[in-house]
Amino acid sequence: MATKQYAVIGLGRFGTSIARRLHDAGQEVLGIDINEERVDAAESFVTHAVIADSTEEKALTALGIRNFDCVIVAIGDDMQSSILTVMLLKNLEVKKVIAKALGKRHGQVLEHIGADWIVYPERDMGERVANQLLSPNMLNYIELSKEYNIEEILIPEKMAEKNLRELDIRAKYNVSVIAIVSNGDIIVSPSPEHTIHKGDLLVMIGNREDLAKFSSIE
Ligand code: ADP
Repeated sequence: MATKQYAVIGLGRFGTSIARRLHDAGQEVLGIDINEERVDAAESFVTHAVIADSTEEKALTALGIRNFDCVIVAIGDDMQSSILTVMLLKNLEVKKVIAKALGKRHGQVLEHIGADWIVYPERDMGERVANQLLSPNMLNYIELSKEYNIEEILIPEKMAEKNLRELDIRAKYNVSVIAIVSNGDIIVSPSPEHTIHKGDLLVMIGNREDLAKFSSIE
């Protein structure tokens, strides 16, 4: 993967998780916080960490913020600072600005001033937990649109040791198998003769309701 330059503004729980994960994946990460302790604590898991107030244009310019591929605004409760920061970043023509919203109104303002991607951590995590409860066999998912998902689903036991032709999943459940994860190996576009084993994961694409039906099979 090509190395990109990220800046994470606000090193609370949310910002820290993003910074740590990106850094672990070999990306260049600049951590920024107004609070010295937070900056000191971040030094072990970011490329650089600096103390700065992101609501000051001069501070952002001095950091060369325009040159970053992506800036993540992870400021917590201080809505005013979050909005002001996003506005400055957009004025400075930062390529991609991702911002955390506390709620709907905050999100609407961020959208209005041009944030490229708005994240609602509490709402999204709540939805994920509910989805997991509704579809116990579903391990992971990607939302493609309001209607369609890609989901990783543990195969129901009664389907084990049968091949895809016998199972006839597309006709019966209206969802398509795009890959199978078996014993750590991934089989992309499996053939109809491919036999599914106990413990295999099916990576499936389809309408959310159809996928939910499939992942609730006992
Ligand atoms: P979380 O819910 O992610 O833990 P926090 O409110 O604890 O959120 O963290 C937000 C961080 O953003 C804090 O470390 C705070 O110091 C930082 N922060 C707030 N305002 C600014 C600002 N203007 N410039 C830089 N960092 C800021």
